[in-house]
Amino acid sequence: MRTDGLSINLATVRHQFGLKDGVEACLKHGITAIAPWRDHIQATGLVEATRIIRSNDMKVTGYCRGGLFPAADAAGRQAAIDMNKEMIDEAAAIGADCLVMIGGGLPQGSRDIAGARDMFADGLLAVLPHARAAKVPLAIEPLHPMTAADRGCISTLSQALDLCDALGAGVGVAVDVYHLWWDPDLAKQIARARWRILAHHICDWLVPTKDLLLDRGMMGDGIIGLPAIRRMIEAAGFHGHQEVEIFSAQDWWKRPGDEVLRTCVERYNTVC
Ligand code: ZN
Repeated sequence: MRTDGLSINLATVRHQFGLKDGVEACLKHGITAIAPWRDHIQATGLVEATRIIRSNDMKVTGYCRGGLFPAADAAGRQAAIDMNKEMIDEAAAIGADCLVMIGGGLPQGSRDIAGARDMFADGLLAVLPHARAAKVPLAIEPLHPMTAADRGCISTLSQALDLCDALGAGVGVAVDVYHLWWDPDLAKQIARARWRILAHHICDWLVPTKDLLLDRGMMGDGIIGLPAIRRMIEAAGFHGHQEVEIFSAQDWWKRPGDEVLRTCVERYNTVC
């Protein structure tokens, strides 16, 4: 079965593997691309993590996840900017294709979502020179509106692309089917995105969904038209990896890691 063009976001197997054994398990299944999270890098140490990734010739389709700029006060906003600059340096060290950026939620006590979105834009602007100098593209990932309050105040591809338009070079988007499949404007916005598509995340939307965050489905087990979205993304000019990103507390995180990876490969070949 094909594994070229398939990447595993290590969150998919975060309860089975760390970075080192995750890379080894992926390679056993013929998978040569991953996307690690910051806790993977911190648990391993940046130097050792970089060695593991480079010595195994792993492609890194993204580094998760920065952004999260809204905060209640100036000190909090500055802390987020500092954290993002560190993550840009880490992304450069491990050779990541992009640093994934999510909007962040409303600060404690706030009822001002427009203000949160402004803080996200201000934060992006503040770290963009650092990202450009490090040659790390920033991938704004719109999150499903159900997460707008606590995690992702940027909800649609249209919003993310408006920010790209305003900020210019060095900023693009991550298209995650879980967050965007429902958008009636999706085809138009993917076509608009063109070269700014930096990542393509896949999983599936289960019916019913039992947990808003931690019940993502394996590709093929839900209702997302994965091939249709893939064709839109390819037509827009992105031919990079499809990155499997599944948070599944009650199902896939409880299964043996090899079973999860084997299933990812099989579904990638049959339903994506
Ligand atoms: Zn994603």
